[in-house]
Amino acid sequence: MRALKIMPRPAAAACVLALVAACTPAETASAGRPGIASSPGSPSTSASTSTGPEATRHGPPGERPRTGEVRPVERAGGLPPVISSIPTRRKVVFLTIDDGWEQDPGFVEQVRDRRIPITAFAMRDAVEAKGTPDPAGGPGKYIGAGKWGYFRQLRNAGVAVENHTLTHPDLRLLSQDAQRREICGSSQVIRKELGARPTLFRPPFGNYDTDTLRAARSCGIDAVLLWTATVQPGGKIAYQVPDKRLRPGDILLLHFRPHLARDFRILVNKIKRRGFELGNLQAYLAAMAVDR
Ligand SMILES: [Zn+2]
Repeated sequence: MRALKIMPRPAAAACVLALVAACTPAETASAGRPGIASSPGSPSTSASTSTGPEATRHGPPGERPRTGEVRPVERAGGLPPVISSIPTRRKVVFLTIDDGWEQDPGFVEQVRDRRIPITAFAMRDAVEAKGTPDPAGGPGKYIGAGKWGYFRQLRNAGVAVENHTLTHPDLRLLSQDAQRREICGSSQVIRKELGARPTLFRPPFGNYDTDTLRAARSCGIDAVLLWTATVQPGGKIAYQVPDKRLRPGDILLLHFRPHLARDFRILVNKIKRRGFELGNLQAYLAAMAVDR
């Protein structure tokens, strides 16, 4: 059966933490709403299309699900599922990073050399440094330094580069056609620049409506990805649960911001000290589809 119904745990809806990032606080405040949409089609095939030569040589980075580890999820209806966390009991979490303003070469080196699995949600205007990033991130040293070339380096280091719109609007304020232009336009740019069409979408601020899901589907998106915790300057994890702990299947949200390389090292070491592994998001999403 090709049915997928994804219900993040209730705690995921309790996101109230301020986000000091390239995205505004509203992004965090509205994130983590229960993901309930459903859709035919596979959640993601980007692992095989968004990775480059380096990743191919060694296989995609990150832990893959064991047989029977991920609960099968039913897909019903016609819309992409909205996913806030991965339904596993294993101590594995998933790293994602949004926008693309600050393009710190030290981050690419870490991802490549340590083979760290991470999914990037690229936003065109950030990648191309059109406009001004959120000053809350601090003064940038590498704002727009590498443009799409930076993301080609990430792709070659095994990073799946996915869709985060062209201009970072609050999609709920746009018509379905306008939403479609933002989402399909982003996929076209990423395909042109990186050679692979995104299959995952993250709505700016975590804000979406049914028109968003319809538009995303028409742009070839298989799943909409939200998150359960954000990573702030200094590698500090801003949890969305009262007990302030990482939980199996958490999806962490970072941003391309100043001091990323330093903060990222702190974060990864912290996650590993707590006994968590880093999962390959695409492999886990694929395992969530029962008929693949
Ligand atoms: Zn964003």
